[in-house]
Amino acid sequence: MIWNRPMETLSRNELAALQLQRLKAVVERVYHNVPAYREKMQAADLTPRDVRSLEDLRRLPFTVKQDLRDHYPYGLFAAPMREIVRVHASSGTTGNPIVVGYTRKDLDTWSELIARTLSCAGADADSVVQVSYGYGLFTGGLGIHYGTEKLGATVVPMSGGNTQRQIKLMQDFGATHLACTPSYALYLAEAIKEMKIPREKLRLKAGIFGAEPWTEEMRRELEYRLQIMAIDIYGLSEVMGPGVASECPVKNGLHIFEDHFIPEIIDPVTEEPLPYGEKGELVFTTITKEGFPVIRYRTRDISVLHGEPCSCGRTHVRMEKVSGRSDDMIIIRGVNVFPSQVESVLLKLGLTEPHYVLVVDRVGTLDTLEVWVEVSEKLFSDEVRNLEKIERKIQRELESLLGITAHVRLVEPKSIERSEGKAKRVIDRRKK
Ligand SMILES: [Zn+2]
Repeated sequence: MIWNRPMETLSRNELAALQLQRLKAVVERVYHNVPAYREKMQAADLTPRDVRSLEDLRRLPFTVKQDLRDHYPYGLFAAPMREIVRVHASSGTTGNPIVVGYTRKDLDTWSELIARTLSCAGADADSVVQVSYGYGLFTGGLGIHYGTEKLGATVVPMSGGNTQRQIKLMQDFGATHLACTPSYALYLAEAIKEMKIPREKLRLKAGIFGAEPWTEEMRRELEYRLQIMAIDIYGLSEVMGPGVASECPVKNGLHIFEDHFIPEIIDPVTEEPLPYGEKGELVFTTITKEGFPVIRYRTRDISVLHGEPCSCGRTHVRMEKVSGRSDDMIIIRGVNVFPSQVESVLLKLGLTEPHYVLVVDRVGTLDTLEVWVEVSEKLFSDEVRNLEKIERKIQRELESLLGITAHVRLVEPKSIERSEGKAKRVIDRRKK
């Protein structure tokens, strides 16, 4: 089902006209209401009148995460505080967190976009959506929550954690849709199996998984283990929260809701825009937000845009599954490594459990990479020779994909920490 057919199937010409009109309005808004944006535009010798076409967008300066930190907490808000009805913030592990604000209209827009997302996963007024994203300052929980209500489905506001109870209520309340991170979905699948709950006790049909990059192989794993359709959703607090883009049932990339966001792909080094089909960093401009609009926000997420029509009927551009965040990327002996590359190898081989962690260290002046992989109980009790054979096989596959040697260590079942939110995939000991 398409939630907002008129908007989601607009012709490309109509969409471009709408985007231009909205882009002009948002540039006016930040120029007059946010000194930091005005100063940046003045430094580039630009005024809002210089934005005459969509191509002019690329003349505007980028916004980066550091700008958000520098103007902590409210310096980039474009509406007076009396109009801001909600704030969210990042966890802020280093220095100031980033803070974002929403007007009442922004919350309506956000709910609308989540309703579109849930419709992509087949949800409707008869559905029961278990929201197992964290509530609170994180945008995942409350974002999906209000979108579920907007859709008219029943929301079960579980938040993260408390796994046994999640599963009990999932059965008792008849959840049809599960919204959480893919790593937590994997943990739940494991727990369901351990609790020996027969599949027919669950009404689960689909999962709406996001907030961390995950691979096609992980999708197949989750679809198999939970017997559901797994949909990838995309968003980030700086731009909105979840609801920036969603896969449709075709599962051939995520439709970006272009009536609200203009996406670009840039070369992260030269900062030049790249054409559709080329891999680079995603950049977003929000064109309808009032409280906290962003102009050309650099996400650090690596993806590819595709403009060809999709058989679902939606006309909005599609982004490929994010293959990694440049924040997660680790550089080992000059080679860029993403945890998702390791994940795809492990799941493709299927010899181990899909739980892994990358351990990076420095011995003398040489960087080392160890990949710890969990094995099943059955395999772990197997003979040592067999385990060594598996280690070598994974090592060879990783080496051919990454171009560097990674030492593989098979570890005991359940020895890798389970995540109730975003999984921690890298332990970098070089920084100490
Ligand atoms: Zn589609």
